[in-house]
Amino acid sequence: MATSNLFPSSPLSSSSSTSSSPSTTKISPLHYFHITPSNFPKTLLNPSKPPSLSFKLSSSSSKTAISTFFPGDDDPTSPESDKPREECGVVGIYGDPEASRLCYLALHALQHRGQEGAGIVSVHKNILQSVTGVGLVSDVFNQSKLDLLPGNSAIGHVRYSTAGSSMLKNVQPFVAGYRFGSVGVAHNGNLVNYRLLRHALEDQGSIFNTSSDTEVVLHLIAISKARPFLQRIVGACEQLQGAYSMVFITEDKLVAVRDPFGFRPLVMGRRSNGAVVFASETCALDLIEATYEREVNPGEVVVVDAAGISSLCLLPHRPRKACVFEHIYFSLPNSTVFGRSVYESRYAFGQILAAKAPVDCDVVIAVPDSGFVAALGYAAKAGVPFQQGLIRSHYVGRTFIEPSQKIRDFGVKLKLAPVQAVLKGKRVVVVDDSIVRGTTSSKIVRLLKDAGAKEVHMRIASPPIIGSCYYGVDTPSSEELISNRMSVEEVREFIQCDSLAFLSLESLGEFLGEEAPSFCDACFSGNYPVLPAESKVKRVGDFVDDGLNGSVDAGWTETHVNQTPVKVEGTISCQKKEKAVNDTSASSVQDSSSKANGNIRNPKQTLLPFPSEYPVRDMASTKKLTGLIGPTRLLLATAIV
Ligand code: SF4
Repeated sequence: MATSNLFPSSPLSSSSSTSSSPSTTKISPLHYFHITPSNFPKTLLNPSKPPSLSFKLSSSSSKTAISTFFPGDDDPTSPESDKPREECGVVGIYGDPEASRLCYLALHALQHRGQEGAGIVSVHKNILQSVTGVGLVSDVFNQSKLDLLPGNSAIGHVRYSTAGSSMLKNVQPFVAGYRFGSVGVAHNGNLVNYRLLRHALEDQGSIFNTSSDTEVVLHLIAISKARPFLQRIVGACEQLQGAYSMVFITEDKLVAVRDPFGFRPLVMGRRSNGAVVFASETCALDLIEATYEREVNPGEVVVVDAAGISSLCLLPHRPRKACVFEHIYFSLPNSTVFGRSVYESRYAFGQILAAKAPVDCDVVIAVPDSGFVAALGYAAKAGVPFQQGLIRSHYVGRTFIEPSQKIRDFGVKLKLAPVQAVLKGKRVVVVDDSIVRGTTSSKIVRLLKDAGAKEVHMRIASPPIIGSCYYGVDTPSSEELISNRMSVEEVREFIQCDSLAFLSLESLGEFLGEEAPSFCDACFSGNYPVLPAESKVKRVGDFVDDGLNGSVDAGWTETHVNQTPVKVEGTISCQKKEKAVNDTSASSVQDSSSKANGNIRNPKQTLLPFPSEYPVRDMASTKKLTGLIGPTRLLLATAIV
């Protein structure tokens, strides 16, 4: 299927702007090319003019005023805000003449991972070109925008941002020029030492253009004195703590990196023409007809360029801690994540609930959409019919305006409509994926009872959430989490259902089997694989940035935990980093793991081969790196950058 056939003609002029290809301008140490749909042509024609910095602290009155524009986002009782939210999805493509269009399609497949902004960067004639915008992928791109992104390689990003913000400057991918070239980056995750690194970089004179943690990566790359370029990426990533699945693009390379814990997913695939694809989930590979090959392994750096594919590792090695919430809620059921089918996981969670928390009932229904598969599993195991008792509207945006506070549950009713024919007079089991604040659950119970349900029994296909996530998922503070404040019985009373049961942590562990220790379950167990180097930074006001007329930032709350600022040099030594950032019990585990893997850190050597137990595939036309012993693979890897 010709990829171009998938794109309808744009209502806008389709005259290609590729004729007005920008020329690169390098401003030391870091110059941003942040091209937005609204100012694209102008910016292209004046690439040497850097965007002005316009961060301002607002008065408290601005918070109120701005909030009125985003009532749905800021309302903690709205259905959307009563779920944890994934922070992003990424894609990278190398070696396909339709790279940006394939990125566009892949971003559609990843739209569930972020709806606030989207962007694509492509490389054409050694120039990185970017289109980013606020909104859904379909809002940001059209045929003429994609015409501006020719080239054989591209990266893309969908973003979920913090409440009440349109933060155009924070929409990725970010592109920056530094003294030896340009680099673009798209990031899924959250850096727990971001503030420390940023303070240290600012102390050295770096000027930040966004409030995104991802920007520190670009600054670390820019100030690095390492050569070749790949050393800079490796050196920068080894200073990061927390969750990062990232794709980088340069004039001649595509680089995919996953943090040593492997919190967030990142997979690799290939199209029939040999093009290499990286994506957050396999559903993106499926859409663009790429064959899944493998995960990017935790701590792995995969480099794709004209010479083929090489694989390196970050140090120190960590035991994998993949986010189990990807299987509970975030990923699409048609994806394979961390080597497991998401559909099969959710189906099994429902079956386990039916076995461990049975109840006499007439019908099983789901809270759409994320509760569907678990509800199917519950119904099958219980031998009770599954019915669609709640209909979800897919046409209500996140920013609808409550016409009156007196109209109770208006937001939930807009999103979910009960089916009386299914519910009236019935004993109903309703299956949801999780409970965060409990506000939406109580409204759903009321909806079902108002529609005539005789009994409502709630079954939750995850353990109770008791802690915030620091690794790329937007969860409320611990104080706001209902299961952190109440027992299961107290939660049942709060949401007014007839019975309530969660998937137990023990059952989740049994389901994962021997792989259980390689999954993060910190928001359920409180066992955080890596403690943040600073408290969770939470915005106390709103940040609005229209990308043209400046921005308003109402500020942040931030409490440091006994940290002295990190001194950022070209590369922070391994020893210094661990002492400064990772002074926890987890660090001893990680150290012993590192030794067990036989990795002895040479402070002068950043590039080391990836452990041989991981498969490394190469492109057909290049030398096979698989099976080469460390020094040989290192030499090859160094030679091609
Ligand atoms: S804390 Fe929870 S949401 Fe965050 S990575 Fe761990 S399991 Fe996933």
